[in-house]
Amino acid sequence: MHEIAVEERAHKIPVAILGATGSVGQRMVEMLSRHPWFEIVQVAASDRSVGKRYREAVTWLLSTPIPEKIRSMEITDATKPSDARIVFSALDAYVAEEIEQHWANQGVSVVTNARPHREHPEVPLIIPEVNAENLGLLHYQKFAHGGIIVANPNCVSIGLSLALAPLVQEFKVDKVSVSTYQSASGAGFPGIPSLSLLDNLIPFISGEEEKLEKEPLKVFARLDENYLHPASMAISASCVRVPIIEGHLKSVSVNLQKSVSLEEIKAAFVNYSSPISKMGLPTAPHWPIYFFEEIDAPQPRFHRFLENGMSIAVGGLRSCSLFDYKFFVLSHNLIRGAAGGSILIAELLVKQKWV
Ligand code: NAP
Repeated sequence: MHEIAVEERAHKIPVAILGATGSVGQRMVEMLSRHPWFEIVQVAASDRSVGKRYREAVTWLLSTPIPEKIRSMEITDATKPSDARIVFSALDAYVAEEIEQHWANQGVSVVTNARPHREHPEVPLIIPEVNAENLGLLHYQKFAHGGIIVANPNCVSIGLSLALAPLVQEFKVDKVSVSTYQSASGAGFPGIPSLSLLDNLIPFISGEEEKLEKEPLKVFARLDENYLHPASMAISASCVRVPIIEGHLKSVSVNLQKSVSLEEIKAAFVNYSSPISKMGLPTAPHWPIYFFEEIDAPQPRFHRFLENGMSIAVGGLRSCSLFDYKFFVLSHNLIRGAAGGSILIAELLVKQKWV
């Protein structure tokens, strides 16, 4: 855990996890079962799992054991009513929209990792360190009928946006060219057949390039009453699946609006501190960005678990012959890019009294 002291609540907030047996859901189970503010009261999944004990339904992929209090919990249908005041959705995209809407209609706060609600004009797309102020859009969120729905950007958009944040803040960014090296767990479980990915790279991830070119524009959007004015930067993305288990690496080239030195770019990364760092949110990393001077950093095996997987690593900063500068970014797709990112959003919702 990081240095900020985090208070235990006398009464924890009851939460549900939808898609609790999947790759993202398991990370949520692991993180939420030791959370000082939240108490898991419901784990839900598909018809294949409903009625089974959690330990029977799940193919547990983590190196830590299944948390004791969750092992015997019965898996419910994803719409079964419960006491949950916050619902974390790690559902397959094709079922998420309707089920998330169902929960919001019951007055519940939904934090989603799934694609369908991310583009909705009334849904804020939140990275707490970058655009907490865009939660103000919730004042105008009508379609959720009494509840609220907030979305986490896609797993690779989060890492890119967080890395761009100091550059957008200090120098403004005009153009971004990004190539990704995305881990196998990004495709869920069981995901891509091993014989398709071992000894191989797959230069296609369905819908990913479109998301990566659009979502950061919503992340950096300026909120004007009920409207998010998208950022004007242009992004070109190429996405590749690689035989790494966890952690998405990105090669990023940027053009900035003003002329700055390499030292100034480096200082922007090194000195970046997030506006939420003093709020005492239990999952917030002390330093969201770690800057590496080593020429061969960052690497998935060594840098994906910085601050429990909530910090990203930036390295290989150098001049670019086509753009201004280029660098590499590494982020943990299941923690920073999904489970941890959405838990941090929920903590911010609690702190700002949306829950
Ligand atoms: P996954 O491993 O395939 O897990 C999918 C989960 O959804 C399982 O718990 C599954 O339950 C459940 N589910 C499937 N159909 C259902 C239905 N009809 N009703 C209720 N539950 C159902 O996928 P994942 O990688 O964890 O991803 C989950 C979501 O997060 C997706 O929308 C994905 O795009 C998004 N996401 C993933 C990542 C990543 O790095 N993997 C990152 C960010 C966002 P059963 O076990 O019973 O089938």
